[in-house]
Amino acid sequence: MAVLDRLPTRSRLNSFGVAIEGECGLCSRDSETRSHLFFRQMNRPVMDWDNELDWACQRLKGKPLSSWILKLAWNGYIVVIWKARKQRLFTGRMVTVSEIVDRAKEIVKLNLWV
Ligand SMILES: [Zn+2]
Repeated sequence: MAVLDRLPTRSRLNSFGVAIEGECGLCSRDSETRSHLFFRQMNRPVMDWDNELDWACQRLKGKPLSSWILKLAWNGYIVVIWKARKQRLFTGRMVTVSEIVDRAKEIVKLNLWV
């Protein structure tokens, strides 16, 4: 869903005519686009979604264990951020960075042991 830009972000819902505030559900500092939600909130220079995905695809080719673990981490990060956004919107509770990292690590661990 995220790769295909099919997640119901606020900017995407607005493009369909849904009357909803367009501010990010996590930080309320910018409009909630896919690129903002997953990459622009980091405290590092980042690219937009397409360039981040291209970067990851180029560097994570092949089947070494390290590439596989990093792919799991990338996917886990996407899932955790989306869930954090939903939790903030529906319960009002903000997920901390350390919780996001811990949850992404847990996804990697669970997938490694299956
Ligand atoms: Zn934000």
